[in-house]
Amino acid sequence: MGANRHMSVDSRGRYTPEVAGEVMPGSEGPAGSRSHNLNSTRRASLMQEPVLVLNATFEPINVTAVRRAMVLMLKGVAQAEEMHNTEVHSAAHAHRVPSVIRLLAYRHIPQQSRALSRKNILLRDRNTCQFCMRVFPSSELTLDHVVPRSRGGRSSWENLVACCYRCNNSKGDRTPEEAGLKLARRPRPFTLHTSRQLMRLIGHRDERWRKYLFY
Ligand SMILES: [Zn+2]
Repeated sequence: MGANRHMSVDSRGRYTPEVAGEVMPGSEGPAGSRSHNLNSTRRASLMQEPVLVLNATFEPINVTAVRRAMVLMLKGVAQAEEMHNTEVHSAAHAHRVPSVIRLLAYRHIPQQSRALSRKNILLRDRNTCQFCMRVFPSSELTLDHVVPRSRGGRSSWENLVACCYRCNNSKGDRTPEEAGLKLARRPRPFTLHTSRQLMRLIGHRDERWRKYLFY
């Protein structure tokens, strides 16, 4: 049980593919195309490449980074199912870089389980302003209360959306209808279903993921 604390699943059963949020906008090419002689910059970015995490049953449950995946493998929590044709070198060893790993012990993942946070809302909305539909880096997005707090709008999955500063300013303390803005889609809680959509999106860059993403 102790080793599980190192996973992206926390003690309350929430799980957070923090890497997915960083990878989505402006992501780089596939890691497989990288050469073996990595300079430190490329090595650092390689270590941030997304790795698909499977449950012991082969069900995809998460996306993590190469760095974390390799730690899980070294700790004996997970094993590699698919590898990149790339190695990273530590002082004494060359390690092949995983693309898909699988947990050795089954882990129960609750169906609706994700923490309400700025990071997760941006991830759900794919860093896209839900009013003008443009994609922004996280630093240029804020969270908008669709029904303003001053009107009793809550901080909830259904009432918070990613929003660029420009749209946020023009909306002000009004509802979208009053401001003449239209929501791209109705905001929903971030569920495992949403996670799988994200996994498929990221998985398009890596054919090694595809056979695991039929869920
Ligand atoms: Zn906008």
